[in-house]
Amino acid sequence: MCECQSVGNFFVCPTSFSDVFSHNYNMKYKFPHYFIEDPPCEEAKPEFDYGEFYYVCAECQQAWYFECYPETPTCPIFGIKIPDMSQVLSQNRINSIKQFLVVLAHEGFSENKCIHNGCMDYSLNGIKVCLNHFGYKFSPH
Ligand SMILES: [Zn+2]
Ligand SMILES: [Zn+2]
Repeated sequence: MCECQSVGNFFVCPTSFSDVFSHNYNMKYKFPHYFIEDPPCEEAKPEFDYGEFYYVCAECQQAWYFECYPETPTCPIFGIKIPDMSQVLSQNRINSIKQFLVVLAHEGFSENKCIHNGCMDYSLNGIKVCLNHFGYKFSPH
């Protein structure tokens, strides 16, 4: 059985998609809806491919945006539920979800400011840079 309906509206597999973490992987136990070991969907249409992003689960018909592991055989390591296959997510939509996962993965922010010159944003907990300097920043186009 797939687990599309029991996971959150988006997820990341921490062991394969480490980009949202710094080095502390313990947060994955605190947010089990978002950080999951195995992808919720094992079979989809089309077949999983690193170059494909839009899928429908073969079991429950849930439509997904997936980013797949860059090796064959591949499987989804990051996903966002979409209402149907006609939806195309903007890069900013994808980035905003990744930034949310970055905040969870660090359990928020420290009381210190970002190390980058002139940046007045809080650094993420445990590291010296803020969310936007970590990555997945809003892009105006
Ligand atoms: Zn499913
Ligand atoms: Zn910064």
